[in-house]
Amino acid sequence: MTAPNVPTRYVSTRGGAPAVSFSDILLEGLAPDGGLYMPSTYPHLSPETLESWRGLSYAELATAVLGLFIDDIPHEDIAALCASAYTSDAFGSAVIVPFTDLGDGIVIEHLSNGPTLAFKDMAMQLLGALFEYELDRRGTTLNILGATSGDTGSAAEYAMRGREGITVFMLSPAGRMSDFQQAQMFSLLDPNIHNLSVDGVFDDCQDIVKAVSGDLDFKRRMRIGTVNSINWARLLAQVVYYVHGWLALTERPGQFVSFTVPSGNFGNICAGHVARMMGLPIHRLVTATNENDVLDEFFRTGTYRVRGSSETYETSSPSMDISKASNFERFIFDVVQRDGARVRELFETELGSRNGFSLAPDERRRVRTFGFASGRSGHGDRLTTIRETWERFGVLIDTHTADGMFVARDHLEEGVPMIVLETAQPVKFADVVEQATGTRPEPPAAVADLQGLPRRTVPMPADAEIIKGYITQRASVG
Ligand SMILES: *Cc1c(COP(=O)(O)O)cnc(C)c1O
Repeated sequence: MTAPNVPTRYVSTRGGAPAVSFSDILLEGLAPDGGLYMPSTYPHLSPETLESWRGLSYAELATAVLGLFIDDIPHEDIAALCASAYTSDAFGSAVIVPFTDLGDGIVIEHLSNGPTLAFKDMAMQLLGALFEYELDRRGTTLNILGATSGDTGSAAEYAMRGREGITVFMLSPAGRMSDFQQAQMFSLLDPNIHNLSVDGVFDDCQDIVKAVSGDLDFKRRMRIGTVNSINWARLLAQVVYYVHGWLALTERPGQFVSFTVPSGNFGNICAGHVARMMGLPIHRLVTATNENDVLDEFFRTGTYRVRGSSETYETSSPSMDISKASNFERFIFDVVQRDGARVRELFETELGSRNGFSLAPDERRRVRTFGFASGRSGHGDRLTTIRETWERFGVLIDTHTADGMFVARDHLEEGVPMIVLETAQPVKFADVVEQATGTRPEPPAAVADLQGLPRRTVPMPADAEIIKGYITQRASVG
């Protein structure tokens, strides 16, 4: 708990980096010691504070939550940035995050009304505004380099398009994204957005990003950065919708709700963990995985086992097809009572030598005190869940949300509303949804129009040197 007026500092999960302020880590990924940044203490959300937040707009609530974690951006600037990020223009209605109560104990929290129809917009839209603000304050520029197989890249591009001081170079495997994803990304004609279609597969794109970022001199000269899922500000932006969900589903202080979260890299549900640590009355945080069940296995057994590529499956909820969970170290940091040496032992020594670790018995006991539960679902479960949700409630859900819905049903408890986080709109996975229900989800008007728009993409060989040359000519380094 933080005493009033103690400024928030950020520390590395591996204990080997100096404590720094929010603005110093805003544009960063990993801490210099290879760890992830976490607030040195969690600000405390008192019942009185929570009650005083009822009735705030989403942008106002975001301002209030962010204000507890940021002491080096003036409050009125935070308010302006949140107001510019969470608009009815970007999210289709002034509500920003609506709910659907299924009436059987489950409530869907709709996080995918942003420009790319997936929950990543919730964080990315704010991140774009924060990045532009901070770069301007520092009088510098940033060139974002990324690889995408579809979803993360488009969320980043829609967040950064047209922003001062930011240029985006996004590599994608040529011809391997869905037509919907291509229409979404390639129709962006903003001069600061460069879609590079690489002659190769997604892994080739990722290898090129690693090669380019690994050239430290090039990286520094060209001011190369990323927007990956370990960025702290992204996680912080996600804390807001847990508070929003609690406020919407409760009437009195101290009432509990539970959340089920379709999970991959553990970023989304880690934000729920942060909210719970702040004192938000969350009973259960249920981690739902698909066949790639690294996280479910951990919560069942206390063993974290990274998968090889032959054990990483392509599923119909592809955004959860992960072999390891890049934000998981943040949770373990709390489990080991913030002992950086122990985190290093687990994530450097043990992960490095045998691709996994098992917690000690006292650590396993401690895991149970954080409210987590878990479950997994498979392709058949997704189809059945999508069909049943449509037939019983008239609600279409996408394949990822279906993983959440399926697992949530095993964790319902009398008197505790279960909020299932919707992470994408069904239209993004229209084929599977149609297969399950016989109904093809309709794209929102703004997205339907994309199909006819001109597209711009630059074909590239899978060659890091040629791509460096392209970046050199177009990067903003002013
Ligand atoms: C990214 C993503 C997820 C997984 O979220 P994590 O923060 O990586 O756990 C789930 N569903 C969809 C649709 C996503 O795009």
